[in-house]
Amino acid sequence: MCGILGILGFESITEWMYHSMVQLQHRGQDASGVFLSDPALEEFILRKRPGWVFQLFQEEPVFPKMRWGLGHVRYSTSGKGYVEDAQPLVLKKQNRTLAIVHNGNLVNYPKIREELENEGVNFQTSCDSEAILHILAQNIGSGEPFFEKLCEAVQEVYRRIPASYSVIGLVTGKGMFAFRDPHGIRPLLLGTADQLTAVASETLALSNIGCKSIRDIEPGEVIFLDENRQLHSKSLTSRKHSHCAFEFNYFAKTPTVMEGKEIYTIRTALGRALADKIRTMDLPPIDIVVPVPESGNPAGIALAQHLQVPFAEGFIRQGQIGRTFIIASQEKRLAASIQKLAPIRSVFEGKTVLLVDDSIIRGTVSKRTIALARDAGAKKVLFASTFPPVIHPCVYGIDFPSKDQLIASKKTLSEICEEIGADVVIYNDVESLKKAIGLTDLCLACVTGHYPTSTTDIEKLQRLREKDLRLV
Ligand code: SF4
Repeated sequence: MCGILGILGFESITEWMYHSMVQLQHRGQDASGVFLSDPALEEFILRKRPGWVFQLFQEEPVFPKMRWGLGHVRYSTSGKGYVEDAQPLVLKKQNRTLAIVHNGNLVNYPKIREELENEGVNFQTSCDSEAILHILAQNIGSGEPFFEKLCEAVQEVYRRIPASYSVIGLVTGKGMFAFRDPHGIRPLLLGTADQLTAVASETLALSNIGCKSIRDIEPGEVIFLDENRQLHSKSLTSRKHSHCAFEFNYFAKTPTVMEGKEIYTIRTALGRALADKIRTMDLPPIDIVVPVPESGNPAGIALAQHLQVPFAEGFIRQGQIGRTFIIASQEKRLAASIQKLAPIRSVFEGKTVLLVDDSIIRGTVSKRTIALARDAGAKKVLFASTFPPVIHPCVYGIDFPSKDQLIASKKTLSEICEEIGADVVIYNDVESLKKAIGLTDLCLACVTGHYPTSTTDIEKLQRLREKDLRLV
């Protein structure tokens, strides 16, 4: 999972790139990168480095003023996490330079890479996004009219790669384009302001730079903004829309709106659904509800209000630790989870506490959080997850790739309690999740096992990922 951004303006957009990319930082912290170009200039600028957006911009405080740009924040779910796997990816072919940023995971990456290599393509990185770059470059060529050639090239990506990808690209001298895979698994939105047009993974990255009119790019739709910011759009294909349910539950920022749904509203509905479930259970009286910040906050508050139980902010999130879930290796994740939260003793001491979090994936972070509550004096710890048990791997860009890593795939509810140290564990069910999101066209593969695409390459993908992680 990553955050992607593209801006095309009439004046320099370099500063806007920074303000917008910062709003996507929660989607990836492994590496950051920008590609800047200008229709009046031949040259372009490509900068990428490990770490956060502010580090990238701090390193080179005076970026030249350019009118077109792409930005990427990386959370590695493919590739080794080296800087050469960071994005944007750039390719010069004939007299054109093509740059892209990608969010998602290519489900048939081992196969498509082999096919492309057999066709003579020379891969420069171990990042799956490079396959998209080559297919686009092969098919856009130097032909005209440009939008027609672009549509043919994207159609070829659709033909050869089922999912998952949201892509933004720039062709120097031509303009900016964007498309989502035919299932629309990963988000992508288009926004317009007076002086610029932008495409990004989330609404805050657009509204923060003045975009007022914002809409989702549809699954199977390709858009192109020419050098005059004229929008060309075409729907190339349509399949059953399968937007990732985990985006709504955890990944996106709380104020974001996706597919017309506000994330905050969904998360409060998830909290109320948990409260309804708790009412039917025979549980010890709850003294206090404590959410696990930050994605657990809206659900925790709503749950407490619905149950009419006191609510308190029991954990303070430490400054620059970032999100532990999107840290690449298990060892680093555990180290970060230890530092991430600081409990407030007076909130926990002598109480039966209900902790509310967005999910229990590997159990590592939940175990640590419960231990913190107990160390701070909690008498009993109940643990509620807004997301149902995750029992199947995700092959679309969220890093729970192997069944072995998923606590709920191998343990019963009471074994999960024992493993993470909770007195009781409560999950929302799939129907409550769907109702809270308010969409029927969702990917729920990690909780139901029903994948929206073929999964013949899952095992190869898992082996590849495990090999990559050993090198991180
Ligand atoms: S499998 Fe789960 S995490 Fe992956 S895209 Fe589907 S809903 Fe999202």
